[in-house]
Amino acid sequence: MQNQYFTKAQKPKTAIIIGAGIAGCAIAFALAKRGIRVKIVEKNNKIANEASGNIIGVAYPRLTAKSSDFGDFYKQSFLYAKNILQEIGDKTSFKQSGCLMLNYNLKIKKRNIDIFKNTGWDNSSVKLLNKKQAEDIAGVALNCGGIFYPYAGYLSPPKLCQALLDMYVDMIDVEFKCKINSIDRNGQKQKWQVGKFEADMVVIASGREIANFEQTKWLCKYLQFIAGQVSHIKANKYSQNLRTVIAHDGYISPAVENIHYAGATFHRLDNSTDFTNIIETMVDNTENISKIAQNLPALNINKNTIDMNLVGARAQIRVSTKDHLPVIGRVPKLVNWKVEYGDLKYGKILEKDINFKYSSYFSNLYLIGGLGSHGMTSALLAGEIIASDACCEASPVLNKTLRAVNVGRYIVRAIKRGEVI
Ligand SMILES: Cc1cc2nc3c(=O)[nH]c(=O)nc-3n(C[C@H](O)[C@H](O)[C@H](O)COP(=O)(O)OP(=O)(O)OC[C@H]3O[C@@H](n4cnc5c(N)ncnc54)[C@H](O)[C@@H]3O)c2cc1C
Repeated sequence: MQNQYFTKAQKPKTAIIIGAGIAGCAIAFALAKRGIRVKIVEKNNKIANEASGNIIGVAYPRLTAKSSDFGDFYKQSFLYAKNILQEIGDKTSFKQSGCLMLNYNLKIKKRNIDIFKNTGWDNSSVKLLNKKQAEDIAGVALNCGGIFYPYAGYLSPPKLCQALLDMYVDMIDVEFKCKINSIDRNGQKQKWQVGKFEADMVVIASGREIANFEQTKWLCKYLQFIAGQVSHIKANKYSQNLRTVIAHDGYISPAVENIHYAGATFHRLDNSTDFTNIIETMVDNTENISKIAQNLPALNINKNTIDMNLVGARAQIRVSTKDHLPVIGRVPKLVNWKVEYGDLKYGKILEKDINFKYSSYFSNLYLIGGLGSHGMTSALLAGEIIASDACCEASPVLNKTLRAVNVGRYIVRAIKRGEVI
């Protein structure tokens, strides 16, 4: 398989990563593995403090009923994450409990059946279960069957971040309380300057702030900021029998030290919202609990038990993109793309004829973001995509997948539509 862009004479020796969430830690792991010395700069005083800070998150594949770039990317990322989690899972509290996606209505049932038929995975990776089979696996009574992923499970996102850094402790260094406002190129030295640090390569992995830099600010209008909340619910004598993650209109984990983690709500925010003050609300807890009551009544978690059983909650913001695929790869030079591909607007060149490999990018400046609701699985493959490109290795994913996640796709689409960008 070809490298996404072009062959470079030298692989970088040093890298700065902005952000110590799962995206930053995954790329640090992938670069350090290749012998690149990494400095992570993080504005908070600990790793995994924002979106990646939930106590428990679920790791399951996000597939589509019909073949799509989205489905392909998430299928590949789940398979990659599964291998890493099997290797370092004990350090991340990973439990391979499986995940049962319930057929909680007819439309979802049809979608689950189509996903099952189209995954191309064998019966050890995906199973279609009737109600009785699903109940045997879940350990609790259910209203229906569903599709089951035995390799899925739940984990501690902060522990996953830490475990990735610990794998190459001599190669990765984290600078806390270090907010970065700009990324500057020192052309003479062929280095990037980030705060007081300098390196051959920079990766922007700053979650909801990926579009806060001069080189990436155009991307903001193609991002979606979605607030969400996970509720922490004390297990009761019925729910404690739950043995697998159940995904319905939301999700619930089996009890971890007697607590279930159930999520997550979705509130689309305006891109100009001030994100500094995201707070937990009772309305969101009620929403999470109502969905459990409706789809999993046998757990006896409902509005009547909420006062007794609710022990906490955590609200944060996910970042997604307009086409729901992440943005992974080199940062395009917007000005050049606008000139080079201006004729897209007049149909003189077609999007399919553009080879992103030969487009203009900032040298050794990368971006990883828009991981949406599946960062725990997608970040690991995203890290590999970037590290393999930086080191001129064959890409771990198909060319069409690289193209689908390329940051510049939004520039091309905007030019085609005649949008101002
Ligand atoms: C309620 C909720 C539930 C979720 N549940 C799941 C789940 O069950 N499974 C799953 O896979 N995913 C889940 N997700 C999604 C997942 O959490 C995200 O996809 C993932 O955490 C995104 O990681 P990130 O590293 O891109 O961002 P973040 O974790 O937000 O990391 C970005 C980091 O960059 C730092 N930073 C930002 N700007 C700067 C700057 N200028 N200078 C220095 N540092 C900076 C921040 O402080 C932060 O530490 C959930 C998300 C939410 C909100």
